[in-house]
Amino acid sequence: MIIDECTSCGLCVDECLSSAILEGDQIYVINPDMCTECAGFYIEPQCVKVCPADAIKPDPAHCESIEDLLKKQKHIYGE
Ligand code: SF4
Ligand code: SF4
Repeated sequence: MIIDECTSCGLCVDECLSSAILEGDQIYVINPDMCTECAGFYIEPQCVKVCPADAIKPDPAHCESIEDLLKKQKHIYGE
């Protein structure tokens, strides 16, 4: 999830292979249905790595196992 510290720089958008990050009304937002936490592609969330404001945090409302994240990734990419 993206927290209020987001400066809307947009750097995270291009890092997301799942197109899960969108421009919101005030700050950018992550669609939890599309976010795989980068499972299957990288060992850590790429958006978190590039965010200069440290504004991307785990969402306690969406705690998913690696198995569930990989299932979601396969569903999104059809592999
Ligand atoms: S963790 Fe990965 S899949 Fe999720 S929003 Fe960030 S870059 Fe996209
Ligand atoms: S990289 Fe960080 S500060 Fe920039 S838009 Fe994404 S969440 Fe906001």
